[in-house]
Amino acid sequence: MSRIQIEGLTRRFADVTAVDGVSLDVADGEFLVLLGPSGCGKSTLLRMVAGLTPPTGGRILLDDRDITAVAPRERDLAMVFQSYALYPHLTVARNIGFPLRARRRRDVDARVAEVASVLGLRELLGRRPRELSGGQRQRVALGRALVRDPGAFLLDEPLSNLDATLRTATRAELTGLHRRLGSTFLYVTHDQVEAMTMATRIAVLAEGRLEQVGTPQEVYDAPASTFVAGFIGSPAIGLLPARLHSVGGGLRAVGDGVDVPLGAGEESGGREVLVGVRPEHLRIAPDGAGSGAQWRGTVRLVENLGGEEVAHLDVGAGRIALRGPRPVGLDVGDHVTLTCDPGRVHLFSAAGGRRLVRTPDPDHAAMASV
Ligand code: ATP
Repeated sequence: MSRIQIEGLTRRFADVTAVDGVSLDVADGEFLVLLGPSGCGKSTLLRMVAGLTPPTGGRILLDDRDITAVAPRERDLAMVFQSYALYPHLTVARNIGFPLRARRRRDVDARVAEVASVLGLRELLGRRPRELSGGQRQRVALGRALVRDPGAFLLDEPLSNLDATLRTATRAELTGLHRRLGSTFLYVTHDQVEAMTMATRIAVLAEGRLEQVGTPQEVYDAPASTFVAGFIGSPAIGLLPARLHSVGGGLRAVGDGVDVPLGAGEESGGREVLVGVRPEHLRIAPDGAGSGAQWRGTVRLVENLGGEEVAHLDVGAGRIALRGPRPVGLDVGDHVTLTCDPGRVHLFSAAGGRRLVRTPDPDHAAMASV
């Protein structure tokens, strides 16, 4: 059981700042996923927590103890990598027991049996890694981490070498394992589905900085920036440029092909914004849709996903997608008006891309950055 506190952690490599002043509090028993595109610094951040890469600034606390300068093996953390690096000449049992033997523990056989049972590896204890499937090898690598009973697990893209079916199965296994163990998991991935399905909270990283930390629902339903909005969700959220205008006491975001009422409020100067809408929230507007949120565009592509269809539309100079049960009732070339529940519209500042929310006072300038 462990709480990990990361305070202003920074790592520079020559002229590259891989991690830039990240602060993050991972609660005891959490499954926190560090999510971001390739090169955003997530592995470097994890390696600093593990003690494999020294930070150039900031601190790491484990259960309130400053471990920034503590050697990796003294940290009570176990790391699982993408490449499982099992010893090829050792059996599964000896691979799993290796960390205990290295520490001259006496209860090696009992612990190995316990861990093998948790991970469903009991039948495989006598085999060597080459006699195992990729998923089984990954479980052995997990077993080697588990056997030490560490305070927390650090996992760096542990599923990325598995095929799609096995990834799905192993995701479920990891979630179950986390629930049973109640340990702290800090997990790195660039895969939004892994993050959404396994995390108790997601920390989204971009260019070494934290963009947002929140539950999967929070980052999906209220993305703090256009980066987070665009990174999570498939097909991606449609983002179109517009300006804020006051029309007859009401505020609207109006752009080329897009017109969204935002309720009562005032705004002068035609501030530039980006209007976001997720594909599953759009629907075809009934005739004479009136004054609701509207996107007018031309269908460019309709994709059949089996149970659902996705229609991609050109709206002004931008693109949006609509997703729904098949058939969605749109064909390539259709000129169509789409609408959605106004509460589902996301607004972002065009300058900086931060989310805009309504200020509580309806009589004054209506939108502010979060
Ligand atoms: P990926 O998903 O591709 O592994 P990542 O998000 O884990 O990417 P990091 O591996 O942490 O990213 O790298 C972050 C940045 O730091 C990158 O620009 C990378 O090139 C740079 N970097 C990482 N390690 C080193 C190093 N040892 N020396 C120099 N630059 C490095």
